[in-house]
Amino acid sequence: MTHKAQALLESELKDIEARMVVLKQSDPFLDPDHVTDNAAVDTDVREQEAHQRIEAEVEELQERVATIHKALERVATGTYGTCKRCNKTIPPKRLELIPESLYCVSCEEDLKR
Ligand SMILES: [Zn+2]
Repeated sequence: MTHKAQALLESELKDIEARMVVLKQSDPFLDPDHVTDNAAVDTDVREQEAHQRIEAEVEELQERVATIHKALERVATGTYGTCKRCNKTIPPKRLELIPESLYCVSCEEDLKR
């Protein structure tokens, strides 16, 4: 169970890293031609929007990376699969769906409030 979780988390990390590389490459602000092109205003706006969308997604992915690292720490300390808040066992189905879960469903919902 624990080793399986670790493998899952590590493969998730790899997926996220690959996704971030792709995202960053699609950022128009990182286009080497960007600085020199005197694009029309509407193009600038489009690039600005694309840039912001990419930044937001990268930020979200970084947060997930942080959570996955926390989950990996819990694998290492043997506390993976128990809720960080109430210490109850997190249902295996939930962990299958979201391997980086640190909380059980009800604690997660409480924390979101
Ligand atoms: Zn809980």
